[in-house]
Amino acid sequence: MTKLSIIVPCYNEEAALPVFYDTVTRVVSALPDVEPEYLFVDDGSRDRTLPLLRELAGRDRQVRYLSFSRNFGKEAAMYAGLQAAAGDLVAIMDADLQDPPKLLPEMLSLIRSGDYDCVAVRRVDRKGEPAIRSFFARAFYRLINKVSRTEIVDGARDYRLMTRQMVDSILQLTEYNRFSKGIFSWVGYRTHWLETENIERSAGQTKWSFFKLCIYAMDGIIAFSTAPLAIASVLGLLFCVIAFIAIVFVIVRQLIWGGSAYGWPSLVCILLFVTGIQLFCIGILGQYLSKTYLEVKRRPIYIIRESGGGDPDEPQQP
Ligand code: UDP
Ligand code: MG
Repeated sequence: MTKLSIIVPCYNEEAALPVFYDTVTRVVSALPDVEPEYLFVDDGSRDRTLPLLRELAGRDRQVRYLSFSRNFGKEAAMYAGLQAAAGDLVAIMDADLQDPPKLLPEMLSLIRSGDYDCVAVRRVDRKGEPAIRSFFARAFYRLINKVSRTEIVDGARDYRLMTRQMVDSILQLTEYNRFSKGIFSWVGYRTHWLETENIERSAGQTKWSFFKLCIYAMDGIIAFSTAPLAIASVLGLLFCVIAFIAIVFVIVRQLIWGGSAYGWPSLVCILLFVTGIQLFCIGILGQYLSKTYLEVKRRPIYIIRESGGGDPDEPQQP
């Protein structure tokens, strides 16, 4: 018997949860030699998600749930799930069925073959997504893979099945600013990628606004690359060279033609441009500083307000 933990981060998922539970239990009960544990992490939902989870846990001993004191974000929910999971194999899955449970049998047999430590899923298209969002998403992946040595796979979902060994490695990364797509790749191990087409949400609404995604993208770059910091040095050097050439030009011109006391509009332009660059570079520094600030405070990544479910005879982890 393999113990399989399935971690499901839920934020306002009252509409999707019942369908999700029915679908996933149907698939999982057909898996050979598997003892499942469903670990729902309620990320401070404001709807009926928590009562639903209490009810599920009441009638199914394989269901456990954690509930946060407020919304801490999906990254925190996944981390809490990984910490609490007891399985030899651990899967992470969205509650909206965008991560098709029907892939689980294939993922399981790939892991059991012993050739892989992780089977992950990436979507190969972005059907049903606004064109502008796809455009920026693609640009983000191109950029982050240029500036970071950790490979971030385009279209990678957080849906994956991992061995206990890999999960323990992930748990060793206790950073506050968590960017899981990078963390999964950073820890290494042998990952097999399954490809699916994009599936639209079964019910409810996406929790990611365009603005939230932009912040997330920036956090990812800052967490997995220090290249932006180099921009300041490079630009500084470049401007020194330009300034030197300009000085020589001005001196020579004065010596040959004289009367160079004109041109204040160009001066203003140069001034504005250079101060703009300076502020931009200070801004980049500020971004790293703010992340460092949050990191050194060592605040907990999440706070649990309530937990429950599971087999009362079994010793429980937090
Ligand atoms: N989620 C979460 N906390 C959040 C936002 C989302 O736990 O602050 C969960 C959400 O309930 C879902 C998963 O993360 O199970 C993915 O969210 P969503 O489907 O809204 O994202 P999308 O698939 O649109 O990228
Ligand atoms: Mg979704």
